[in-house]
Amino acid sequence: AYAVYQRVYVVKAKSTAAYKLEEFRKAASTPLSKLRSISNALCTEMHAGLIKDGGSRLKMLISYVDELPNGHERGVFYALDLGGTNFRVMRVKLAGKAKRVDKSESIEVSIPPEAMLGTSEELFDFIANEVAKFQKTEGPEYGSLPPGQKRELGFTFSFPCNQTAIDGGTLVRWTKGFKVSGTVGKDVVKLLTEALTRKGVDMRVAALVNDTVGTLAGGRYNNNDVMVGLILGTGSNACYVEDIHDIPKWTGGPVESGEMVINMEWGDFYSAHLPITDVDRELDEVSVNPGEQPFEKLISGMYLGEIVRRVLLKLAEEGEIFDGVTEKLRERFVLKTPDISQAHGDQTVDLTAVGRMLKNRFGIEKSTKEERELVVDLIETVVERGARLAGAGIVGVLKKIGRDGSSKRFSSSQKLNARLTAGAPTVVGVDGGLFEHYAFFRNTMQGTIGQLLGDNAKLVSLELTKDGSGIGAALLAATYSKYKTK
Ligand code: BGC
Ligand code: MG
Repeated sequence: AYAVYQRVYVVKAKSTAAYKLEEFRKAASTPLSKLRSISNALCTEMHAGLIKDGGSRLKMLISYVDELPNGHERGVFYALDLGGTNFRVMRVKLAGKAKRVDKSESIEVSIPPEAMLGTSEELFDFIANEVAKFQKTEGPEYGSLPPGQKRELGFTFSFPCNQTAIDGGTLVRWTKGFKVSGTVGKDVVKLLTEALTRKGVDMRVAALVNDTVGTLAGGRYNNNDVMVGLILGTGSNACYVEDIHDIPKWTGGPVESGEMVINMEWGDFYSAHLPITDVDRELDEVSVNPGEQPFEKLISGMYLGEIVRRVLLKLAEEGEIFDGVTEKLRERFVLKTPDISQAHGDQTVDLTAVGRMLKNRFGIEKSTKEERELVVDLIETVVERGARLAGAGIVGVLKKIGRDGSSKRFSSSQKLNARLTAGAPTVVGVDGGLFEHYAFFRNTMQGTIGQLLGDNAKLVSLELTKDGSGIGAALLAATYSKYKTK
């Protein structure tokens, strides 16, 4: 739908509005030299975060996933996915190497805004209630449970957690507009289990996984070369497979696979090189988590439209564009990623889709073509910055694992090296609406990796890995099942 993006900007005599936009553009610009510094800084922070907890604001959380799905998984598993705007419950029947996913069903409900800002008990009761309803629809085709067993589930909880085991971890803090009281510092598996019990659901949480880790697991199920999981959605984050010997803070002793998945929590990455503008600082100050997630606030889907709105509001307030300021233009988060991606792809001569967006979202009835062009230009500036930063982030990760072509070393793990297809690129499994639905974002990110790596860009491939937080979590529940027979 957003196939063609080339747009020729006619150089006009600059109006003041264009001049002010120019200032924003300058502050938000991402020349390659800056991106290189950012990739390097990310890589340095990764090292620091692996040395000790608190060594960097990049948390580099140990996921306790030291074994990824290999295709042989069998049995019936549930998955819960909490993290964005929707909550999902899924049931799958895994049938081994040949048949793979024999059957799967799921339900999706939008999370009521009050549940995102209420108490922990309210949120977990809401979740448990949906699970209870869904479990009742389990048909006979899933077979009966062996005596003494419970159904097991993988819980995708897409927030930073200090894991204590594969099936336990405490919430470090909320992100992405969630602000639920009484959860930070608590074991979310315990909270979930208690809520399930209250609702009469007798299930065992077998794995607590971040959505990036679910994406990595889902990708690995189909492709041995997937080494990185990346989310570009409401929020943004990456995880990757690390050599256990390169994790000084790991005190858990030898690991059979020699590997450990690390949840980077890259949303909280900060570097003085980041192109943060005054508008970004204002957005941060009034956010529910000021000072937190600076990288995420430049990249992810929750914020792109909001940044655009803030710049437009400033210009309108100063009388540079539009006929005054509407109420809606002052309302936070009215502009969503689908709105800007649609406006961005507007190929009509008069930019009618942009006009419609201004009218529907901001109640701006009349706009000039010049104003609409400015809006598109602004969207492009904001989205391009996010996509280029995400590209620089991936290059930083590749550098850390020796897969950016700059060094021969990848991993000391014999097993890991043996598993990879010789000569094949390192695969990054990517999920999230920005990557899936916003072609300009995807292409810009890919192009930036190309610019940063040059010839070595062939060593990496970004692949859409849909639904990792569902199927990936179910697969990890199978991998870490209590009833698994070796
Ligand atoms: C969270 C991460 C998550 C990411 C993508 C961030 O806000 O901190 O845990 O992986 O969003 O959903
Ligand atoms: Mg998700």
